[in-house]
Amino acid sequence: MKQKYMQTSLEKKIRARAKRDLFYICVIVLILSCLSLIAKVDLFEQLYFFSRQHEHWEMDEITVVVFWFGLGGVFYAYRRMQDLRDLIYEVSDKAFFDQVSQLPNRVYSLECLTQMLHRAERLGRQVAVIFIDLDNFKMVNDTYGHAKGDLLLQVFGERLRYSIRKSDIVGRLSGDEYLILLELADEDELAPILERIKSLQEESYRLDENNLVLRFSAGVAIYPYDGYTATDLLKASDIAMYHSKVTKKGQIEFYTSSMAEMLYARYQLESDLKTALQNKAFHMEYQPQLSLESDQIIGYEALIRWELKGKQIPTAQLIQIAEDTGHIEEIGLWVLSQALEDAQSFLQADQTLGVNITSRHFWMSDFVCQIQRALSVHEFPPHRLVLELTESALVSDIFDDIRQKLMALRALGVNVAIDDFGIGYSCLGRLKDLPISCLKIDQIFTHALVDSERDRYVISTLINMAKHLNLSILAEGVESKEQLAMLYQIGCNMAQGYYIGKPESLATLVDRMKSSSGL
Ligand code: C2E
Ligand code: MG
Ligand code: MG
Repeated sequence: MKQKYMQTSLEKKIRARAKRDLFYICVIVLILSCLSLIAKVDLFEQLYFFSRQHEHWEMDEITVVVFWFGLGGVFYAYRRMQDLRDLIYEVSDKAFFDQVSQLPNRVYSLECLTQMLHRAERLGRQVAVIFIDLDNFKMVNDTYGHAKGDLLLQVFGERLRYSIRKSDIVGRLSGDEYLILLELADEDELAPILERIKSLQEESYRLDENNLVLRFSAGVAIYPYDGYTATDLLKASDIAMYHSKVTKKGQIEFYTSSMAEMLYARYQLESDLKTALQNKAFHMEYQPQLSLESDQIIGYEALIRWELKGKQIPTAQLIQIAEDTGHIEEIGLWVLSQALEDAQSFLQADQTLGVNITSRHFWMSDFVCQIQRALSVHEFPPHRLVLELTESALVSDIFDDIRQKLMALRALGVNVAIDDFGIGYSCLGRLKDLPISCLKIDQIFTHALVDSERDRYVISTLINMAKHLNLSILAEGVESKEQLAMLYQIGCNMAQGYYIGKPESLATLVDRMKSSSGL
């Protein structure tokens, strides 16, 4: 069912003109009638006498024919007006409503906002503009196809409508963007509506036997504080939404003027990243991993580095931007290929190479083939490659897809480790279904190991669990002798951290290897 149709300003103008024309016609007819009365013009009598005098002209037959033509003309005009009305209805339906969700589209939503603003100005009210953008919706389209994606957009639009009041408007701007317009007589009206909208993220959608959860980022701009025109308010709410997307996904953020500056810096970084990607302006560093059983370096983890204008961009920030902008797939393949190439210069035959990947890589239908190709190009034995996948992938909507691809990788001989284990949404049920070989315990546990009995207990429990699941355990972020000693004591298999060795560039590693071998 469509939302209540609000007249556009053009329609209002046309209706006003029709009323005005009708008024003028009535006035003119009235004046002419009065004049005829005053002048005593007996029009019909004159006509009658004229037709009697010219009987042979067949005036009465002609009059009857003219009368029928007139009546036919009126009927014809009425029918054409009906056609015109249908045409206008159809055209405005296409021009103002989104055909997938049946919600007002961008043009009509902005028209409604403009009218709401006029009314709010007259009545001294506020208007809240909420910009909503679904997170990772591309994944739904890629995984389930566009027809299912459209269905999901439609259902989501409906749920949005039921979470607002009848008088409010929800429109679909484009793709996975929605706009909600609320007229507020009182500021307190906003909070419960926002709560209801936010809670939609807890609801699930059934698609192809899978229960899908749609997460979104949203931004709110309020008239008259954040803008006076529809365009300004839309822009402010868009900025707030984008801020929420890059800082804390899944939240509804209110616009503040400082957001624009932060976003400008972010846009700048995004475009720098694009250029860096074209010029391959990244390099790799490698951090050693120690076996606590043999006391030997048993492998290295490859970590990407990006230096921009003489400044090191934090890697976590680089990865986040690359994920948000969809460049992570390309970066991931570059990292893999570069690390495999670099490994030839420093990695010993019994050492492994850890390469980080994100769940986004599993969206690539040819991901497994790409890994296989890279391994054969660099003639790297698959069993020495360890792909590090963060724990958040375990709660991904495409978990089944991830599992199948991991199985295919395992069949090739590639090892998989779960990175930053313990801080995410530990989904132990899913862990046992995955063909993984190692759990990398996040550094927050390692850091607290010496002082906190609780963290010691957590790691011990994880080690026991890992043993039962036939997995090895690596503790990340070892920064001191005490931490390392404690890890030995509780039976951890491997360790990595600044105390063992900081990440180093290929050149430094090769130099050190040369000097230690006396070359
Ligand atoms: P990670 O995979 O858990 O990597 C370990 C991070 O901890 C690295 O940060 C490393 O420099 C840092 N680290 C190692 N030892 C210590 C320590 O003793 N103390 C402290 N405080 N930190 C230590 P980095 O290089 O900034 O990377 C951050 C995260 O970015 C990585 O966490 C990984 O998730 C991601 N990342 C790094 N390189 C890549 C990459 O090539 N591809 C992808 N997809 N992600 C990457
Ligand atoms: Mg890692
Ligand atoms: Mg980690």
